[in-house]
Amino acid sequence: MSNWKGKVALITGGTSGIGQATAISLAKRGVHVVLTGRRAPEGERVAKDAQSQGVKGVFVQGDVTDETHLKKAVQTALSLTGKLDFAVNNAGVELGNTPTTEATIDAYKKVFDINVLGVLLSMKHEISAMLKGGGGSIVNTSSVAGTVGMPGAGIYIASKHAVNGLTKSAALEVAKNNIRINTVSPAAIETDMLDRFTGNRNPDVLGYLTTLHPIGRIGKPDEIAKAIAFLLSDDASFITGTDLKVDGGLTVP
Ligand code: NAP
Repeated sequence: MSNWKGKVALITGGTSGIGQATAISLAKRGVHVVLTGRRAPEGERVAKDAQSQGVKGVFVQGDVTDETHLKKAVQTALSLTGKLDFAVNNAGVELGNTPTTEATIDAYKKVFDINVLGVLLSMKHEISAMLKGGGGSIVNTSSVAGTVGMPGAGIYIASKHAVNGLTKSAALEVAKNNIRINTVSPAAIETDMLDRFTGNRNPDVLGYLTTLHPIGRIGKPDEIAKAIAFLLSDDASFITGTDLKVDGGLTVP
């Protein structure tokens, strides 16, 4: 069993979906949470929900492509107890159906800036803080898109493959420093992102997506939050540089 109480977690993209579920799941275990995102009302609401679990809950508004914002988020986490124990680099953005022949530089830059540069810069400052603090655990939210290819999704697919690569390299860099870094890879999960991707859950699109999951349904944010908590915890003490697929079997066939 892990000792969670009084530890501190930084969660990027904590204003909705998987990040929100993770923030609340960690708060329920007694972990103080600092969450980030661009939408202030949503962020303040999640911070309040975390506080109602009896821990400190702080929202830091900003964009993960802004290094100054990320430094501030790490500093805010450090200001709570002097140590950053956990980080979940979860902020991410999808891209609608874009065949390779229709790819644009703007779409590529937007997706890579948020999904890849955001994770890289987050880890840069989190690892520095964890090295000073004597250790820590980081989970980056990748996707089944980090493993398989999908027609019309090349840019997003490439961005999540990049997240897996960044994770493995960083994990090797700090493996001897008591810092573990892993990815969690969800399949389709009921969040705002899924709503956007499926045109507000268009039954045909949702039906097709469901058939891709051998388990026969779409996943829930809390099912990803639980996997993230496992990877963060001491229960995963010998796991680093790996990718935990939480995908209802999607990548098995
Ligand atoms: P979501 O509800 O749309 O959450 C996305 C989060 O990322 C929000 O908190 C959003 O906050 C934040 N974000 C986006 N762009 C940002 C930026 N430039 N700066 C700071 N924060 C930013 O969707 P979700 O499904 O929970 O997505 C979370 C992660 O799971 C993403 O990395 C996504 O790729 C991954 N994922 C999702 C699914 C799925 O089916 N839902 C499947 C596989 C992987 P603000 O809007 O407030 O900035």
